[in-house]
Amino acid sequence: MSAFLYRTLTSRPIASLMNMLVGHYVTIYMIHRPRPLDGAYDGVSPELLEQCILYAKAAGFEFASVDEVIEKALAKQKPKHPTLCFTLDDGYQDQLDQLVPVLLKHQCKPTLFTIIDMVEGIDWPWDSRISDAIWNARQSQLNFHFNNQTFVLDFSTPEKKRISRRELTRFGKSLPANQLDQYVASLLNALDVDPHKPAPSNYKPSSWNSLRQAEKAGLRIGSHACSHRVFSALSDTQIKSELQRAHDLLAHELENPSRVFCYPSGRALSDFSEQHTELVKNTNFFIGAVTSMPGNISLRQIEQQPFLVNRHSFPASFEKFVRYSSWLEYIRSRI
Ligand SMILES: [Zn+2]
Repeated sequence: MSAFLYRTLTSRPIASLMNMLVGHYVTIYMIHRPRPLDGAYDGVSPELLEQCILYAKAAGFEFASVDEVIEKALAKQKPKHPTLCFTLDDGYQDQLDQLVPVLLKHQCKPTLFTIIDMVEGIDWPWDSRISDAIWNARQSQLNFHFNNQTFVLDFSTPEKKRISRRELTRFGKSLPANQLDQYVASLLNALDVDPHKPAPSNYKPSSWNSLRQAEKAGLRIGSHACSHRVFSALSDTQIKSELQRAHDLLAHELENPSRVFCYPSGRALSDFSEQHTELVKNTNFFIGAVTSMPGNISLRQIEQQPFLVNRHSFPASFEKFVRYSSWLEYIRSRI
């Protein structure tokens, strides 16, 4: 679509009119990290986040928490306005320090899904360990072998590092839990990284204390399971135990945890299956669950499949935010 046509269709008068006509769709955003100073990974700047929120307010969007969205859908209610919902995944301290305050300042009703083992100080996530090791790798190239698989890795530029990280993370997700530990250990060894290295400042986990403070200020906090391992790599018993432990700790440490679950990684088919959705549902802890499958979604779709709720990754530009939040994207998601 030409930029001119696109600007016209999303211009304020047309967007307001269409938002009134199309009405009840929801865009749920998934935010990972604030933008790091060293460019180690993509992230969201607090300034961009605020710019997007101010636009959404002026354009007549409503904000709702993800619990409210699912409750409304299950009660077959229809919002009068298109609705935006903000969620954050994982639970690093810099999310609480840099992004949550912006969301709370504008009453966006955010929800943070936290990795329990990280807050408990048991471990920092395996995928973050890989990211950190690659970003700080002294080698510019590495031939790495694991399980008859050879990875020819290039760390010579930031972009090449990102490509190598994606490849190694994708492979890690495909491994069963006991092999994943070996894989991460041998990769760290090949990269000369101390396997007991504590989380550096940009991977510093939040604590129960900082989560409690954020909860008092209006943040809702929910379960992202314990280990951040994809469900497809865990046994049913391991998944049930993670769901139970995460639920018990959240209930013990916080006032009012979210009743929505967030799948680790969250890509249907590759990271979790229908069978895992049933396991989550059968705990009776939750009214629904969010994935990381992209797309705007209607309340009717949520009502039909509350344990498979789509989210858009929060975009890197204002223009994309306008598009993802728009009635145009909603119609496109439906086609
Ligand atoms: Zn996550």
